[in-house]
Amino acid sequence: MNQDVKEIKNNTLFFDGCDTTKLAATYGTPLYVMSYTDIKNRLQELKQDFTDRYPGARIAYASKAFCTEAMYEILKQEGACIDVVSGGELFAAQKVNFPAEYVEFNGNNKTPAEIDQAVEYGVGRIILDGLQEVALIEEACKKYDKKMNIMIRITPGVAASTHDYIVTGKKDSKFGIPLDEEVFMPIVKSVIDSQYLEFVGLHMHIGSQLFENEAFLEALDVLMDWAKKIKDTYGAVIREVNFGGGFGVTYTDEERKPYRFFLDPLMERLKKRADEMEIECPAAVIEPGRSMVAEAGITLYTIGQIKEIKGLRKYISVDGGMGDNIRVALYQAEYTGVLANKAEETPDEVVTVCGKYCESGDIILHDFKVPHSVEMGDLLATYSTGAYGYSMASNYNNNPIPGVVMVKEGKSDWIVKPQTYEQIMQNNRIPEFL
Ligand SMILES: *Cc1c(COP(=O)(O)O)cnc(C)c1O
Repeated sequence: MNQDVKEIKNNTLFFDGCDTTKLAATYGTPLYVMSYTDIKNRLQELKQDFTDRYPGARIAYASKAFCTEAMYEILKQEGACIDVVSGGELFAAQKVNFPAEYVEFNGNNKTPAEIDQAVEYGVGRIILDGLQEVALIEEACKKYDKKMNIMIRITPGVAASTHDYIVTGKKDSKFGIPLDEEVFMPIVKSVIDSQYLEFVGLHMHIGSQLFENEAFLEALDVLMDWAKKIKDTYGAVIREVNFGGGFGVTYTDEERKPYRFFLDPLMERLKKRADEMEIECPAAVIEPGRSMVAEAGITLYTIGQIKEIKGLRKYISVDGGMGDNIRVALYQAEYTGVLANKAEETPDEVVTVCGKYCESGDIILHDFKVPHSVEMGDLLATYSTGAYGYSMASNYNNNPIPGVVMVKEGKSDWIVKPQTYEQIMQNNRIPEFL
């Protein structure tokens, strides 16, 4: 089920049946390539490990990892839900007519306009992330004569072991509602008491790129302690628990764990805690982002300038960089890859692969091994770039954002066309007074 869609033959990297050198020749570089088969394998795994296994279980794909119409189309066909965190992601969902009730709206500072947009569309859940949101949602509900399902996001106060920038569950966090009784309980009460809001359950998301389940279980225990307090105080019973996302993937030598490694213990604990409370086991929801798309993506670059700094380092430059992959500069993320047109040659030389952007931190691969025959015009493929690559891309240095090609068993087509210079400049204006 998790067979690798990468294959090396004839000295060349193939990806989901496509010769990457041909992809580069046809579509140009830099180029994001997404494997349909890999995404489909993940969805299949989620079905087996979660949605078919536990009654009422749902997945809500975290759009922010890779937000495109084609991705939404795949999820729509699979009957999955999506999690959106902005008016822009919601707009993309609306554009493909994503079923409104399958959309869940997250975010730590949803603007009044975004809340209006979500309520008008009739999203299935709003994940409440602060006190001031209650009145904003009620106002929109009143305007559209609707009632909204509300999940309340808690900050469970556990420290997941990952990079500090992607920890979200510790107490000092901009995300979620802190679990101080005098802060939390009145917010819960205002939701329960509102004629416009339906209190559905509690939500947590403790961080990203996680490989252990202790922090998940610890956070779930905290969540269920508060569910009990809510029941004892207000008589309200939670019907759903959202565990969030954060399931780790393989970038270099980390070993990706199957979904059930996290989900079986979580479901067992959820059931146990529900039994103790004498309530029906709440339906579970997860929000996988990275784990659904990271390994489904590679990036293709053409190698340009090669600089040897004697006794120090050899820099190999590619025609992309921090504009298409900011994660290296942002959180010291590590990747690996291959010279796609010399894939069977022995990688015997250690180099630094840098981008073309005007920042010294614009590095793609630190201490990467390439065959010593590396030269201008070779094709580099970096692996596991499907998540938080395209979605975090920028126009720094006025470089266009590369396009995305989807591949499926030897077939390929654009799912996002590359940006043009015209498109980068299209909103520029020169005022009269200049
Ligand atoms: C980012 C995020 C996710 C997805 O996290 P991954 O690590 O990509 O799986 C899920 N839920 C929420 C609320 C998030 O902010």
